[in-house]
Amino acid sequence: MARIQVLDKHVAELIAAGEVVERPSSVVKELVENAVDAGSSVVTVEIKHGGTSYLRVTDNGCGIAREDVPVAFLRHATSKVRDQEDLEGIGTLGFRGEALAAISAVSRIDVMSCPAGGVIGASLHLEGGVPGPVEEAGCPPGTTMVVRDLFYNTPARLKFMKKDAAEGAAVFSAVQRLALSHPEVRVTFLRDGRQEMQTPGDGQLQSAVYAVLGREFALGFVPVKGSGEEMEVTGFASRPACCRGSRSYQHFFVNGRYVRSPLLTAAVEEAYANQKMVGKFPGCVIHLRTKLNAVDVNVHPTKMEVKFGQERQVFSAVYHAVLSALEGDRVHPGAVLERPRPHDMVTPNQTRLSPPAAPPVRAGGSLPLHDWTRSGRASPAPAAPKAGTPSRVSPPVSVRADQPIPAVPAAPVPIVSPVQAPPAVSGPQERRIQPPAPAESTEKAEPCPAPAPVRQEEPPVEQQPPAQPEASWRVAGEVLNTYIIVEQGDRVLFIDKHAAHERMNFDRMKAQGYDPMAQALLAPAVCRLAPEEHAALLSHLPLLEEFGFQAEEFGPGTLAVRQAPFDVDAEEIEGTLSQIARKLLTTGSADPSAARDEVMHTMACKAAIKGGWHTTPQELERVAREVMEGRVKYCPHGRPVAIELTRKELEKQFRRS
Ligand code: ADP
Ligand code: MG
Repeated sequence: MARIQVLDKHVAELIAAGEVVERPSSVVKELVENAVDAGSSVVTVEIKHGGTSYLRVTDNGCGIAREDVPVAFLRHATSKVRDQEDLEGIGTLGFRGEALAAISAVSRIDVMSCPAGGVIGASLHLEGGVPGPVEEAGCPPGTTMVVRDLFYNTPARLKFMKKDAAEGAAVFSAVQRLALSHPEVRVTFLRDGRQEMQTPGDGQLQSAVYAVLGREFALGFVPVKGSGEEMEVTGFASRPACCRGSRSYQHFFVNGRYVRSPLLTAAVEEAYANQKMVGKFPGCVIHLRTKLNAVDVNVHPTKMEVKFGQERQVFSAVYHAVLSALEGDRVHPGAVLERPRPHDMVTPNQTRLSPPAAPPVRAGGSLPLHDWTRSGRASPAPAAPKAGTPSRVSPPVSVRADQPIPAVPAAPVPIVSPVQAPPAVSGPQERRIQPPAPAESTEKAEPCPAPAPVRQEEPPVEQQPPAQPEASWRVAGEVLNTYIIVEQGDRVLFIDKHAAHERMNFDRMKAQGYDPMAQALLAPAVCRLAPEEHAALLSHLPLLEEFGFQAEEFGPGTLAVRQAPFDVDAEEIEGTLSQIARKLLTTGSADPSAARDEVMHTMACKAAIKGGWHTTPQELERVAREVMEGRVKYCPHGRPVAIELTRKELEKQFRRS
């Protein structure tokens, strides 16, 4: 091996530069951070050709004194940290005094700066870190940095640059993060002469979110507010129905600094447990403010990662803030209102609809009946079991305590046109309720489209308008044997009765535990499964038993099921177990409580009324009430349970307006 020697200064600088400056977006990140640290209220970023050949950052901050201009480009030169104590509580985005030295080492830079209140500024040209003379320059207060030909002297690094579009996109992301982290700064982004983004800089995070992520995206968010031990959490998080296919819409800021944090990601995602679809991720813009010395920002070369002193408290504060935002979100579709009349009262465990009047009794292998919810279909007549289809013996092994519900007076539900205005006098089906805020009332529970690239619309006027006078709701009927139609004020809601009832079941099971109404099978059901499904189920037999399945190994890939929950038809046993196994394999198997939730999802679905089944008006009313009173918003898979059409939208369709 060669002799050890201290590296030449130039080589050492290039190596150091490599840590900080990876691509144009890292240059922009450092320059805009300097602009914010300089107290700017206006920052403009312009790039050409993805930023590699040209990028410019202009600010109106405090500027740099003429004699300091060349000093700023020396390594370890900073105005932000003086001594060791300062490192304990860093309140600025920069602190290492390395960025300008690193950037200048690998590019050609022109800087122009004029201190606030100054008349004449200074300019300096540097090439590969070597400064020219400082010259006088007429420029407005603030600083402009122009960086050209990034990596012109490090061809190895230049080779790794991606296409202009990809580098430009990374720069745009860096600018977006700055805009979201500092709503008090008006941030403008221009690419190849075109303005692509501008935030108002009015200090409102909501305006910044609107300008950066777009209107559609902003409307899919709910405001988040919470606090913990010496910390404050604010921001926005997406509604469960607006979750995305990746985590790229998660933005976390700690004391105004963008960070990547598995801890914060976990805290947010935990709040969506059982609300979002599997494989979807919530988007968010979350600001955490805490004491400066409660977080170490000096743990990562690009300062993108931080270390919290009190991880548990941070997790808890963020989790609870997001959870209560989701719980408080009343977009689907209404608020509460008047207490239900005494005869309508049902206890929480009475969400199961119209259970059979008496426990089903099966004679000689007839199929299990769920006829009380299926009377619209041809009621299955007692029939001989299919070959290989196991039969059940009655009575049920255990009977759920939640039956039957008190009789509701059978007031007929008037069926009217969903667009007809509500009657002036409240009828028996009506409840007085607060209408949701207008901003919410125009929203739909459909997945949000991707944000548009150019956003220069005005921010929304006001998302939380003052309380409105009360409006009533009533069930107008059911269509397609699937959707309950509810009329409320100027809007019509379509409630998916299966999705809503599934959620009601799931919440009940979560709150009270699953009390399986299981039946022993006359002959065991032999279920053939894929090898991995078979293994997943075998390792969860006690869990399956909790839900009423008694199964045992019956040869390779085969299970013999001796008992199954009443909610699962005999012919559905194999499919249901396979479905549970797949869920256990993808999400739930490592974590016992997640595994239990997965099985609960399936069982909540099985126990729910189905689209296509006939349901009585009273049952429809009960499901509608859960939704209208805000207790049910999403099915356990995160699908919306209701969508709405406003009078305006209908009028538009009919060209009435
Ligand atoms: P750091 O930000 O860690 O201090 P930099 O190398 O990024 O290190 O910047 C060095 C110094 O140059 C800063 O401490 C600051 O005093 C000055 N500076 C850099 N950019 C600006 C700017 N846009 N406005 C005012 N001062 C600046
Ligand atoms: Mg800096």
